[in-house]
Amino acid sequence: MECGECLENISALIDGELNGFEQKQVENHLLACGRCKAVANQFRLLNFGIVHAVENIPAPSGLEERILLSIGLERQKAKKQFSLTSLFLILLVSPLLIFSSLIWRFVYLVYSTGTILGRAESVLLRFVPPATSWAIGIMAFFLIVGGVLLVRRLLKGFQFNEVFS
Ligand SMILES: [Zn+2]
Repeated sequence: MECGECLENISALIDGELNGFEQKQVENHLLACGRCKAVANQFRLLNFGIVHAVENIPAPSGLEERILLSIGLERQKAKKQFSLTSLFLILLVSPLLIFSSLIWRFVYLVYSTGTILGRAESVLLRFVPPATSWAIGIMAFFLIVGGVLLVRRLLKGFQFNEVFS
C-alpha cells in the first residue's frame, strides 16, 4: 500500500469504518511507515480531543428547565383535550342512558304486571268453578282489548314528530 492510499484511509480506520482486509492493510503500512504512523497518531489525538471537548461542553443554562416546562405544557394540553373528549362523550351518551333506564323500567313494569296477572289468573282458575273462570277470562280479554284501544285513542292526539325531530 502506498502512503497516499494509507493517508486516505486513516480517518476511516480510526472511525472503525474499514472491513477486515482494508484494516489489516492500513495497519501493516502504519507499522512499516513512520510518517503515516505519526499522521495516524495526530488523527487519534484530534479525535480524542473532539470527543472529550463535546463531552465537557456545559449545557446552556435553563435548557433542562425549558425542556421540562415544554413537556409539562404538552401534558397539560393532552390532559385538557382528554377531559374535553370525555365530557363530550358523556354529553353524547347521557340521553341514551336516561332513555335506556326509562325503557328498562317500562319493560320491568310490563313483565312484573304480566307475572302478577298470570299468577292471579292461575289461582282464580284453581278455586273458581269453570263457568265463572271462563267469564273472568272473557272479561279480562275485553278489558285488555279495551285498554289497548283506549291507549291508541289517547296516543292519537299525541304528536310524535314534535318529540322525535
Ligand atoms: Zn506511509
